[in-house]
Amino acid sequence: HFRPASRIASVGVSTILEIGARAAAMKREGLPVIVLGAGEPDFDTPDNVKKAAKAAIERGETKYTPLDGTPELKSAIAEKFRRENSVDYALNEVTVATGAKQILFNAFMASIDPGDEVIIPTPFWTSYSDIVEICGGVPVLIPCDGAAGFRLMADQLEKAITPKTRWLLMNSPSNPSGAAYSEADYRPLLDVLLRHPHVWLMVDDMYEHIVYDGFEFVTPAAIEPRLKERILTVNGVSKAYAMTGWRIGYAGGPEPLIKAMAVIQSQATSCPSSIGQAAAVEALTGPQTFVGERRRSFQRRRDIVVSALNTIPGIACRTPQGAFYTFADCGGMIGRTAPNGKRIATDTAFADYLLETAHVAVVPGSAFGLSPYFRISYATGKTELREALRRIADACKMLS
Ligand code: PLP
Repeated sequence: HFRPASRIASVGVSTILEIGARAAAMKREGLPVIVLGAGEPDFDTPDNVKKAAKAAIERGETKYTPLDGTPELKSAIAEKFRRENSVDYALNEVTVATGAKQILFNAFMASIDPGDEVIIPTPFWTSYSDIVEICGGVPVLIPCDGAAGFRLMADQLEKAITPKTRWLLMNSPSNPSGAAYSEADYRPLLDVLLRHPHVWLMVDDMYEHIVYDGFEFVTPAAIEPRLKERILTVNGVSKAYAMTGWRIGYAGGPEPLIKAMAVIQSQATSCPSSIGQAAAVEALTGPQTFVGERRRSFQRRRDIVVSALNTIPGIACRTPQGAFYTFADCGGMIGRTAPNGKRIATDTAFADYLLETAHVAVVPGSAFGLSPYFRISYATGKTELREALRRIADACKMLS
């Protein structure tokens, strides 16, 4: 009889992965399921990156690398931070891990004691609260609804800070809401942090390159150098370069934190994949045309999804500034009844209904801590997107 450890008692397998598995099972039964659930670009990894990986294999770079990244990759990352973010990180202030997810894990494992609090603006990427809990911390979830543009406000932050607060965790552009923080949006939050020197700031810049309508991405370490000594700037190659499977994420931050993170990594994975690291060097230092082309393509898809959703009575969708998700309000569907007599009581029931009736997989807002909403990932071809939206509209019409 297996007894799971108490540290995972309240943590389940990600809802997103569960919905993906259900959709895959339905597909195997021959149902024409369209999956708008996964947070993964549908584009292929650029050819120059693949070539660099093959060349690394041929050169014999198939062994353990230095613990938290090769000098070549750390240099490429430091150069990227300077070039794209105007932030200077020395090589001993840079760390590389097996995806940004492991960066977050290393950072929280290395810094959180039982009962320490992490403030997380909500809706949030599902893994944030689970990682904090596994590390013994307490996620402090602050609801930031559509009316506030899904953004955290300074007074909310001020109120949430206690002597136990260790971190504020920010994600711009956001998964799942697509909301992004301009310099003006960040400024009042950074002013609050300046007044609370015990609170550190972790920023997840994973979607920095996927921004629309000329939005100017900024990262807090560039906006407020006085905070740089307590900021961890997290990023990775997964989304910008369609490299989710290569598993390379990285961060810049103060050396004592970076060193503590290396301790965790040394007992977990020893180092990130040597081949993945060689590929990431090419992604960061090679031609960047890919990034702009994909951004334009995502923006066209975003426009298709947002305008189609807003024609459905009972659904309201804000125009996201970045990432490849819409987070639409489905409050108008709650309380309605499906043709089979089932009542749509929650956004989870609404997502179930769409999967069963429209054969479209979406993720309910409850998975991200805010209801009643649902997330669509539009990292899918335009034809499929149009078909999925047509089916969603038809399924909504059948609710009474
Ligand atoms: N951060 C955010 C906001 C994400 O949405 C994701 C992936 O979905 C990650 C981090 C994880 O990225 P990686 O593939 O580098 O682990």
